[in-house]
Amino acid sequence: MPDKTDGIDQCLTAVRERIRAAETRFGRAPGSVTLLAVSKRHPAAAIRAAHAAGQTAFGENYLQEAAAKQDELADLELCWHFIGAIQSNKTREAAARFHWVHTVDRPKIARRLGAQRPESLAPLQVCIQVNVDGAPGKAGCRPEDVAAVAAAVEEQPRLQLRGLMTLPDSADDFETQRRPFARLREIFETLVSAGHSLDTLSMGMTGDLEAAVAEGATLVRIGTALFGPRNP
Ligand SMILES: *Cc1c(COP(=O)(O)O)cnc(C)c1O
Repeated sequence: MPDKTDGIDQCLTAVRERIRAAETRFGRAPGSVTLLAVSKRHPAAAIRAAHAAGQTAFGENYLQEAAAKQDELADLELCWHFIGAIQSNKTREAAARFHWVHTVDRPKIARRLGAQRPESLAPLQVCIQVNVDGAPGKAGCRPEDVAAVAAAVEEQPRLQLRGLMTLPDSADDFETQRRPFARLREIFETLVSAGHSLDTLSMGMTGDLEAAVAEGATLVRIGTALFGPRNP
């Protein structure tokens, strides 16, 4: 049976080439889009293989699962991004174990992360998750609430606001994929015009990477194209 980690280096190369091709096609500066490898529901060995192939930034969705892998991989220098839903009773672990959190969506979460970020660590890098189409029941704050969440993050000295993140419904055609990303970029530009200093648009996954790069993504979160289908 092939090892689960076989081929990760080829997949990494292929995804990096996909990103470069999209940068070229959409007039983006070479190297302006960084790759976050989403390793949820894949074993620590897969992360180790990706690290051996030069990948250092990894995204995880579940705190307990992430903690186990972080402990197992403590000998490596990795940058950990939390991209899962964040509950207010779980902020302490996120604040202690991650370099980035992409899913801050209300002032309460910002205040808790800010209070709980250990003094011994650099400020936690934060993106605000936005529910761009405002569909009820979806994660992320409404577009009209982003400014208030941004202000709450900026009040916290242990947090550094970096930008915005979105996770739209999947769509097959390119123009449909582009729309929520364009909307997130507009919200981003509005915040920048209002004086917020932001540099990160976290958007795009395996199925819609190109549409996200076309609309200005600076960080794409890729799981399936790197690691294959996830364990249930
Ligand atoms: C799982 C996940 C991804 C990666 O999705 P793929 O389609 O496997 O590339 C990206 N972002 C978030 C928030 C996720 O939960």
